[in-house]
Amino acid sequence: MPFAFDNSYARLPDTFHARVLPTPVAAPRLLALNEKLAVELGLDVAALASPEGLDMLAGNHIPPQAEPIAMAYSGHQFGHFSAQLGDGRAILLGEIITPTGARRDIHLKGAGPTPFSRRGDGRAALGPIIREYIVSEAMQALGVPTTRALAAVATGEYVYREEVLPGAVLTRVAASHIRVGTFEYFGSRGDAVGLKQLADYVIARHYPDLTDDADKYEKLLEAVVSRQARLVAQWMHIGFIHGVMNTDNMTVSGETIDYGPCAFMEAYHPNTVFSFIDRQGRYAYANQPSIAQWNLARLAECLMMLFANEAEAPERANAALAGFKTHFQKAYLDGLRRKIGLMETQDDDASLLADLFTRMGENEADFTLTFRHLCASIADPTADAGVATLFKDPSSFAGFAEKWRARLAQESGNLLERAEQMRRVNPAFIPRNHRVEEAIAAALKDDLAPFHKLNRVLEKPYEDQPEFADYMLPARPDERVTQTFCGT
Ligand code: AMP
Ligand code: MG
Repeated sequence: MPFAFDNSYARLPDTFHARVLPTPVAAPRLLALNEKLAVELGLDVAALASPEGLDMLAGNHIPPQAEPIAMAYSGHQFGHFSAQLGDGRAILLGEIITPTGARRDIHLKGAGPTPFSRRGDGRAALGPIIREYIVSEAMQALGVPTTRALAAVATGEYVYREEVLPGAVLTRVAASHIRVGTFEYFGSRGDAVGLKQLADYVIARHYPDLTDDADKYEKLLEAVVSRQARLVAQWMHIGFIHGVMNTDNMTVSGETIDYGPCAFMEAYHPNTVFSFIDRQGRYAYANQPSIAQWNLARLAECLMMLFANEAEAPERANAALAGFKTHFQKAYLDGLRRKIGLMETQDDDASLLADLFTRMGENEADFTLTFRHLCASIADPTADAGVATLFKDPSSFAGFAEKWRARLAQESGNLLERAEQMRRVNPAFIPRNHRVEEAIAAALKDDLAPFHKLNRVLEKPYEDQPEFADYMLPARPDERVTQTFCGT
């Protein structure tokens, strides 16, 4: 039996979820099984890869001890509140405990309609499932907290979007699927009992150190604020644009979730937006920290109802929220310093970095390659030419390089060692959008080779892998992806 379930969320009251079974699909076919993850989770790889395992991953067979549920949640989508969202096309099969004692959700995305489907069909198309598989696993390899992809299965059925597309199911693994929107579900209904149960559950599952704290709900807010601040800083460090940072797409565990219209920035520009539906640029690259804080303010509005000190609740919630800027700025700047090889802190570092970003922006320099090439430059100024070619006006880089070297000279330490440290934070490989599209286009023609190859390259983003040098390159103008679609 591949899964030894222990379903704590299903034991919560009926207001938290709806019991619903996945709808069987016509002809399941395994597209990918993440064997390394399966082993980490203590799952039996052979059993998962067997016909019976495939049926479980497709939702055709309900494993023993599974208690499938769709979770209830609300959410602010592009700033507008929807009281009733919930898992409309995803079903939580159950939770497992990994060999290291961690609790993980096993969840099928695209598993059929639920009571929360509204007008949707409960299904997912192959393309978005492939994208989530690639990008979520790439984020993991890059060192960013994220939900994981255990398997992708083609359903042998079609889904009807703007076009007719093959359907697929993703087995998503997460520390939990509890969102800011889950709190809003109870908060907006004035259900203080449900809210408290949810908060206690989240503390027990994700923040157990707070269990006996007299101000545990306040501390919970602070803790989520801190994790999210560090998470968004990590996104910024690798040029990741989430694309749809609605409150229902923000976890309280601090994992990245929901890889819809996400994309990695190539030419650096702070206003970069990919998502077709984000016409206002609400979720643009540089807006992500302030949007995260806005979302956390929605969480604060719920949690403050539970604060021990009612009179001071608004003031204290604001203080907890204000922590976001502090945590974010520190994580963001510390990470950027490491990206350019600085080990010590000086007051002018932010302006040195701002100067680099201004030059990158003016010269459409590729975000990822600029930092990767800097790793070679730090100990070898002759390598500056390699960085400079990334700038439309190559001479622009020299202006930064001079200040950078002057700043580096104020620190002791071996430059070759620093180069090595820089290579551990500046990836050579990211899931470039045209590569993701290439993998999807091939998969739509039943060719999974590009999908598997891309996953392999992205397993080691910080290694040079000269045999895959092509995968480091930005899109040529004719390959460039300028918009992404939710593709739901
Ligand atoms: P998302 O854009 O994936 O974050 O989804 C937002 C909301 O729409 C969630 O409540 C989803 O469950 C729901 N949803 C998205 N696509 C579908 C679909 N095809 N069928 C039913 N519900 C869906
Ligand atoms: Mg979502």
